[in-house]
Amino acid sequence: MKQDVIVIGAGIIGLATAERLLIQGAKVTILERNKVGQESSWAGGGILSPLCPWDYSDAVTRLTSYSASQFPAWASVLRETTGVDPEYETCGMLVLPPYNRGLAQQWCSIREIQLEQRIFPGRISSVCNNETDTCAECEQAIFLPETAQIRNPRLLHALRHRIAQLGGRIIENCTVKSLNAVDQKIQSITSSQGDFEADYIIISAGAWSKEILGMYALKLDIKPIRGQMLLFKFDHTPPIHTIFVENDLYIIPRRDGHLLIGSTLEDVGFDKQTTVSAREHLLIRAQAILPALQAMPIAQHWSGLRPASPDNIPTIGKHPMISNLYINSGHFRYGVTMAPASAEILVNEITGKPQPFDITPYQTGWNIS
Ligand SMILES: Cc1cc2nc3c(=O)[nH]c(=O)nc-3n(C[C@H](O)[C@H](O)[C@H](O)COP(=O)(O)OP(=O)(O)OC[C@H]3O[C@@H](n4cnc5c(N)ncnc54)[C@H](O)[C@@H]3O)c2cc1C
Repeated sequence: MKQDVIVIGAGIIGLATAERLLIQGAKVTILERNKVGQESSWAGGGILSPLCPWDYSDAVTRLTSYSASQFPAWASVLRETTGVDPEYETCGMLVLPPYNRGLAQQWCSIREIQLEQRIFPGRISSVCNNETDTCAECEQAIFLPETAQIRNPRLLHALRHRIAQLGGRIIENCTVKSLNAVDQKIQSITSSQGDFEADYIIISAGAWSKEILGMYALKLDIKPIRGQMLLFKFDHTPPIHTIFVENDLYIIPRRDGHLLIGSTLEDVGFDKQTTVSAREHLLIRAQAILPALQAMPIAQHWSGLRPASPDNIPTIGKHPMISNLYINSGHFRYGVTMAPASAEILVNEITGKPQPFDITPYQTGWNIS
């Protein structure tokens, strides 16, 4: 592939797409409004799976499963070529009640996904700190040992290096203002750093994708949904070694003693402020699972704007009317997980290569037939 491509947005989706295009031989420029990887992709938790995967549509399952399976090899290439370790780790995920046990068992059995019944001690404390111990308050939990995590800020850092190594150009502090089309083709892009032209334009601007597309967004339904997270730091390793999930709350231990608590789902437009009420809500629920947190200060509290789409289904592919315009956006709660497969699907579409599975569900976001 010899063409010039402009990718708008340097989050996980834009960077993964750019990397794949560069490997195919394209000449790639990424235009980023701020700095690389500082928005939703940085703010997220890095769990490489939906929280209760049996609750999602086949379209989400197919994309997340296929994409998650690419992470071990991808993370290892990134680590070896850039020297930055994205800390891919198969740490497993413990799902606490309430959840649909029958559905979970059936879903895992059909897909040959390992599932173990676990007894969860109602509280994980310094006295009772083994999640497989039994005690008076035990509850039935299920453990998915194959679920993995990645440290998303490190993944973004590695990708930035990788793109530079492959000859990609990243222009930061460059806000795209408009797409200028003539005869059903984007002729130029107007930005805060002047005009750009390319053979192909890819929109991967997360929650801002619809704004950039303007009238070309058609009926695309991508909007920001805020998520707030808390961070703690233990001196050595955290008291848990696996991801804990209880409804929408999750706790993620990192190798170096950091522990993340997430997250909220808030429909507040482009407001990225953190709130006291969300902090209290997350804290109280996390402390009920992990009382050790009661004695600990919060190290950091932040928020990010997820690019929400109906049912978590992103739009990946060519614009229905503009010949050289493509989108890879709207990954909502699972954009880190979906990144490598979404990049593959988009680049296959541009280069005419066969797709790994039926991609129709990811092409209906424009909502026109
Ligand atoms: C709290 C939280 C927890 C999450 N947890 C997980 C998880 O555990 N697992 C998982 O898989 N996913 C998770 N997600 C979701 C995931 O982070 C997102 O789906 C993913 O980051 C979306 O990536 P993106 O590249 O599309 O968007 P972004 O990372 O937001 O990147 C978009 C980029 O476009 C740039 N941009 C915007 N407008 C312009 C413009 N006009 N010109 C130029 N550039 C522009 C922005 O500056 C930004 O850098 C979480 C998200 C949040 C907020």
